[in-house]
Amino acid sequence: MTAGVSIRSVTQRYGSALALDHVDLEIAAGEFVVLLGPSGCGKTTLLNIIGGFAEPSSGSVLIGGRDMRGVAAKDRPTTTVFQDYALFPHMTLAENVGFGLRMRGVGREAREATADAMLSLVGLAGRGGRRPHELSGGQRQRVALARALAVEPDVLLLDEPLGALDLKLRRAMQDELKAIQRRVGTTFVHVTHDQEEAMAIADRIVVMNGGRIEDQGPPREVYLRPKSLFSAGFMGEVNRISVKGGVSRLGMLPVPDGCLCIRPEAISERGLLRLGPCRVVETTFFGTHLRAMVEPVAAPGFTLKVHLPQGAAPAVGAVLDLGAEDHVVLQEA
Ligand code: ADP
Ligand code: MG
Repeated sequence: MTAGVSIRSVTQRYGSALALDHVDLEIAAGEFVVLLGPSGCGKTTLLNIIGGFAEPSSGSVLIGGRDMRGVAAKDRPTTTVFQDYALFPHMTLAENVGFGLRMRGVGREAREATADAMLSLVGLAGRGGRRPHELSGGQRQRVALARALAVEPDVLLLDEPLGALDLKLRRAMQDELKAIQRRVGTTFVHVTHDQEEAMAIADRIVVMNGGRIEDQGPPREVYLRPKSLFSAGFMGEVNRISVKGGVSRLGMLPVPDGCLCIRPEAISERGLLRLGPCRVVETTFFGTHLRAMVEPVAAPGFTLKVHLPQGAAPAVGAVLDLGAEDHVVLQEA
């Protein structure tokens, strides 16, 4: 089961502080949306308002077209997976997964069948008789996911659910999470501050900052065509060059007035937007690429970050004639 979510001009005040400032967001049924932003930007507040754990100061939330005002968390078609997804230690995995169904008065046999199906869905088929302490962190996280999905929510809310896992496991779980979401078709609203995680799983990334939505779109669009400097910087490294009347610290550049933003991997000797000769100051091998800090000959003291191909090996002090293969020009706030 699945449903869309409409967030209409939602504002949340805590005293004089604005945790959310007139947020509007339409989430389609079956969409995998990631709320991405730094700590304190309002992600959890927004998730809690969707889940019914907090009432907004103003604005409204509709799920499946139904206004959720006054509807308690337990009566909403949502379930939430938190970072500290505490499982019940004294219960088996099957009992943990079936817990929500038991609360709803579902009989034992039906509960066990659902728990089996859900544990299979998350790759733990046949482990229903085990207890949480027998599992690794990643497995426990999967049980928490199975438990949340067992009650067949229309919308699953996930608040930094992979935050407690180590990096390698987190990357593996991201792939699984996306595959599971595809299979069940439930709307997922997932909170993270990790932009790589957002790109790995999202149909749409919603970039938040200071209680507002700064940018949104498919990962490719938000990364390559960010709509604000904040969004550009949060999604990854970016070189910034101010241009006014075609003049910049690197010399003439044929772009509109604003802040010229170029990703490190978009700089190469082939790039058509010529940046001119640059001296290599330092290089570091990163496996997938060679990261170089270069100083434009025209702008001593200014540094550009450049990702060169893995096989490149320019000597420190060498001069490369560089250009940008892709760029955006954004307005300085
Ligand atoms: P995030 O999840 O993006 O880190 P939060 O939604 O938790 O951010 O918090 C957004 C802002 O609201 C922060 O400045 C936080 O300090 C504030 N805030 C959140 N919950 C409360 C609360 N219950 N009382 C007061 N301030 C809060
Ligand atoms: Mg949070």
